[in-house]
Amino acid sequence: MCQHVDSLTTVLCDQQSYTLCPHCSQKLCLDHINDHQLIVKENLAMTVDCTNVVKMKLDDFNEINEMKFNALQNLDTWKKEMAEFITKVHDESVEKITFCYRPIYGP
Ligand SMILES: [Zn+2]
Ligand SMILES: [Zn+2]
Repeated sequence: MCQHVDSLTTVLCDQQSYTLCPHCSQKLCLDHINDHQLIVKENLAMTVDCTNVVKMKLDDFNEINEMKFNALQNLDTWKKEMAEFITKVHDESVEKITFCYRPIYGP
């Protein structure tokens, strides 16, 4: 006998069983094997949809990570440029002070 139980009426199918369903390992008649094949197809479609959603989220995540990386890189560049500028101004100032206070009569 087919092992299919109607989910609404809970009535067991009275058809002769034909084959084992690879989806749920139940013995099913041809009609219900076809039903189960549709369930598998629907599940596959749902899985593909879920995979696409996860992929989109992953892409967003990668994009955000890339934005964060770029922002940190820009900040590092700015820090380096500022440090170089401060060193330059400092060196120039040391030179000016040294020049202004140079001994009038050299040794
Ligand atoms: Zn099945
Ligand atoms: Zn059946």
